[in-house]
Amino acid sequence: MRIAIVGAGIGGLLTAIALQQRGLAAQVYDRAAELREIGAGLIIGSNAVRLLWCLGLGERFERVSFVQEAEGPLRRWQNGAVVAEKPIGRAAVRRYGYATHGVCRADLQRLLLDALPPDRVHPGLRCEGLRDDGREAEVDLVDRSGGRHRVRADVVIGADGLHSAVAARMHGEANRLNQAGQRAFRFLVPARRAPEFARHSYTAWLGPGRHLVHYPIRRGEVVNFMAWLPGERDDPRPPGAPVHARTLHAEFTGWHEDVHDLLAAAGDGSCWPIFHKDPLPGWTAGRVALLGDAAHSMLPFLGQGVGQTAEDAVVLARCLAEGHVADVPAALRRYEALRIDRATDVQLRSRERCYEFHLPDGPEQRARDAAYPLEVRQEADLLYGHDPLGDPP
Ligand SMILES: Cc1cc2nc3c(=O)[nH]c(=O)nc-3n(C[C@H](O)[C@H](O)[C@H](O)COP(=O)(O)OP(=O)(O)OC[C@H]3O[C@@H](n4cnc5c(N)ncnc54)[C@H](O)[C@@H]3O)c2cc1C
Repeated sequence: MRIAIVGAGIGGLLTAIALQQRGLAAQVYDRAAELREIGAGLIIGSNAVRLLWCLGLGERFERVSFVQEAEGPLRRWQNGAVVAEKPIGRAAVRRYGYATHGVCRADLQRLLLDALPPDRVHPGLRCEGLRDDGREAEVDLVDRSGGRHRVRADVVIGADGLHSAVAARMHGEANRLNQAGQRAFRFLVPARRAPEFARHSYTAWLGPGRHLVHYPIRRGEVVNFMAWLPGERDDPRPPGAPVHARTLHAEFTGWHEDVHDLLAAAGDGSCWPIFHKDPLPGWTAGRVALLGDAAHSMLPFLGQGVGQTAEDAVVLARCLAEGHVADVPAALRRYEALRIDRATDVQLRSRERCYEFHLPDGPEQRARDAAYPLEVRQEADLLYGHDPLGDPP
């Protein structure tokens, strides 16, 4: 089976690895000339960690990441009171078999690239067109000097992220991006400079209109720290604009001193506008399928972007391996049927969290705090306890 994957991000690479494990070789094309990722942290939940082990990547992943040592508290902004705890440490091992890990995105992407033969990944080729005549699909690729290339395939997988060209072709206007009205300020702090409380496990601080998250990554040598603030829709700063943590103290006036200690320890970082999409009505058309952020870009408030993408990858690989080359569309429809409801549910829950995390103090916030201990645990069961390969489809 000839398989072309557009996008060599986490989703495209994971899919190529999952296909390889099932004896199928995919070619992966990416518009970036060099597959270099921004240094930023990702929290990887038990469901994704389980799949990395299934794909034979578990040991390598453990070597570059950091196992969260304790459960993850959600704290109140002013006094640090614990509203609820996410089961991500020992409780996660007991309940789901695997703890949550923190990892540097660049380390994860390097690990995935190294798991594939180098001649499978083709950087510097942007997808600009796509056709499917029913018998085969064709991808139009443009290289850095404007040269045009055409690739024929039995199946094309659009793993080209938030700004997916493949999703735009499949869905037109329904694929539009929404501005979340939020900005993420991202910092990497050497652990030796970070306050002691930040060196062990994920913690979130919830407050009116904003929140912060921090967790250790890279074997505990670095603390990833993110602040979420309301963002002006017409903010002229480009994505990734440099920012210094000292400029954020005023945004957190009245917040707990730990938050200010962390800001004081952090130095230069970057600032990103946040986008998301509404759920798409479908992920496949003929011989073309969407996967990862291209299919279900979500706000990162549940830390499930990679988890849902990994679930897509293993299910799609299984459907293609068990399907027949003569009926690729049926295999893709099966993939969509197995995945779309769950991913859409997680996408909508992530959006709901954005609203809840930022509630002003008052009756609604008090109701949230009363409900969260149980709700957060039940949601963790739903997110982390799921095994997409558990029941044969
Ligand atoms: C601020 C922030 C924090 C986050 N935190 C977390 C977290 O803690 N945990 C978590 O699980 N998730 C998190 N996420 C989400 C996570 O990063 C994504 O869900 C995940 O990276 C999706 O991977 P992907 O492969 O689908 O897309 P991407 O990683 O975006 O990869 C897409 C690839 O496609 C390529 N491409 C794009 N267009 C074309 C084209 N036309 N032709 C060829 N190639 C193309 C790009 O160059 C890129 O390499 C966060 C996201 C943000 C914005």
